[in-house]
Amino acid sequence: MTIEEVKGLIRPNILALHPYSTARDEWQGGEGDSIDVWLDANESPYDSGINRYPDPHHSSLRQKLSKIKGVAAESIFIGNGSDEAIDIIFRVFARVGVDNAVSIAPTYGMYKVAAAINDIEMREVQLLDDYSLPVDSLLAACDENTKIMWICSPNNPTGNSFQRADIERLLKEFKGVVVIDEAYIEFASHRGFALDIATYPNLVVLQTLSKAWGMAGLRFGLALSSSEVISIMNRVKYPYNINVLTQARVSEELDRDISAQVAEILEQRERLINALRLCDSVERVYQSDANFVLVKVSDASRLYDVLIAHGAVVRNRSSVKGCEGTLRITVGTPAECDRVIEVVKNFR
Ligand SMILES: *Cc1c(COP(=O)(O)O)cnc(C)c1O
Repeated sequence: MTIEEVKGLIRPNILALHPYSTARDEWQGGEGDSIDVWLDANESPYDSGINRYPDPHHSSLRQKLSKIKGVAAESIFIGNGSDEAIDIIFRVFARVGVDNAVSIAPTYGMYKVAAAINDIEMREVQLLDDYSLPVDSLLAACDENTKIMWICSPNNPTGNSFQRADIERLLKEFKGVVVIDEAYIEFASHRGFALDIATYPNLVVLQTLSKAWGMAGLRFGLALSSSEVISIMNRVKYPYNINVLTQARVSEELDRDISAQVAEILEQRERLINALRLCDSVERVYQSDANFVLVKVSDASRLYDVLIAHGAVVRNRSSVKGCEGTLRITVGTPAECDRVIEVVKNFR
């Protein structure tokens, strides 16, 4: 698709939107200005570190993220968690009660919830038995009102990544926006699609600081796409969606090197997989490109309870179609992995 075709997918009311103009939008200082009296936003003048509104454009954070991600600052949207980006993508592209979206299943539950909140029909297409991407069925599920396709890779809860060639086929053949949720990309064995936003104007990549970066408590999600799509998303978000404290702390944390922690998680993931495969009650441990493993066991609900009795909570995915009899176990510290391995080993 061309960028003009992608713009043609945007809801007319959003294209016509005059976004809220903040005080800081209306005064854009110049180099020579030396302003130290701020009386334009009805803020309290008493300095507490939080008495001023935050930067609505997240300018310095987007610069920093631009260097880390290797994409232009204009191609980065920052949301209050990925959840905000998911909701805004629906609101930008899908006309309420008219348009629909397609997603894989099983996958992350938020796409379906956000669709329901926005009154958008969600068409779910079951993954193939080996959890690979059902490309033909996904394309067949679309009609002229299908605006968005949701692909999570590495996928939650299955843990696998999809073949690059399969995703590229969707990007080329689907006449709508393909969202690839890469919440777990730092744990994957491939580079993902962030750098492909220059090639595919209909691609939006979601990433987050909640997993490998260890900032789930701050709520900070990213969408990467063409500058045209990102500027539309920025018009729809709440002006001050990322607060002052979060912006400051994220900026600090982004200077950290997370590679050692990620390497340790990967090491523990392999250890967990290998140990679980030796347990009698374990029928299958799925390959993982994420910081969790999906495990098929003889009696998932009973093992779940036994783990709880030993003070460890995992996610029971048994009621999810395609994940019958499974638990999803997050990779923790070496000691936490030991606790889980010990309980599963002794489970009869
Ligand atoms: C954890 C997760 C996220 C992160 O959501 P945030 O709102 O950024 O914390 C996004 N997508 C998937 C698939 C996830 O599993």
